[in-house]
Amino acid sequence: MLLQAEDVGMYFGGFRAVDGASLTINQGEIIGLIGPNGAGKSTFFNCLVGDLKPSKGRVLFDGHDVTNASPEEHAKLGIGRTFQLPATFEELTILENVMVGAFLRHPRVKDARENAQRVLDLTGLTALADQKAKSLGTPGRKRLEIARVLATEPKLMLLDEALAGLTPSEVQLAIELVRQIHQSGITLVIVEHIMEVILSLTDRVLVFNQGKVIASGAPTDVVNDPAVIEAYLGRSLNKKREQNT
Ligand code: ADP
Ligand code: MG
Repeated sequence: MLLQAEDVGMYFGGFRAVDGASLTINQGEIIGLIGPNGAGKSTFFNCLVGDLKPSKGRVLFDGHDVTNASPEEHAKLGIGRTFQLPATFEELTILENVMVGAFLRHPRVKDARENAQRVLDLTGLTALADQKAKSLGTPGRKRLEIARVLATEPKLMLLDEALAGLTPSEVQLAIELVRQIHQSGITLVIVEHIMEVILSLTDRVLVFNQGKVIASGAPTDVVNDPAVIEAYLGRSLNKKREQNT
């Protein structure tokens, strides 16, 4: 077992954004996390990586209790996450942005640069290495965000809507990239609204609704679960119906 979150809660005042969620991740898995906007997925990620201290519960990673550990300690132990709104250094080049991640394990500039270049190769950004980050369009930004995390050499990577805003053909390329990352030995948890991504990549899916895990299982079973359709697909279908009337 690589990560175990037990009964994690995150409260903002009286509001329970995450309300007793548990998750066990085994080495080598790709887990999908789905659910409507506001269900608590990003907040749960924040609790897993040390960006928020959970109001209750416990998080174990690779044999360590990381419930109250800092984001830096999490990164050192090997948990990396992408941000739904990427924190890119706009005035730095793409290579330099990735080097920021590589410095975690490679304090010498030369080593950090070499490792960052290796990550740029994997993520298809080599040709853009010397451009400033601010010059990037959406697909490049998504890749840079993934590259920045990869450069920290995580054992577990949490992708928070890392493929949102891509065109269908860009999504296909991004799915290939995620497969390659997985094949390189990294365990993954993916928050994604694009059902095709979830169905084609994940071994197991958890459905979040109102801060709780309301269903989990094989991706095809989960998307056919009536409770899931009601909470998630039903709601978006209703929204579409409202828009059409
Ligand atoms: P998701 O990622 O599933 O769309 P979030 O985890 O971003 O959902 O948000 C879950 C709920 O928690 C939302 O209602 C959001 O407004 C609320 N929330 C998130 N962060 C905070 C915060 N720092 N303070 C107060 N409420 C928050
Ligand atoms: Mg979110």
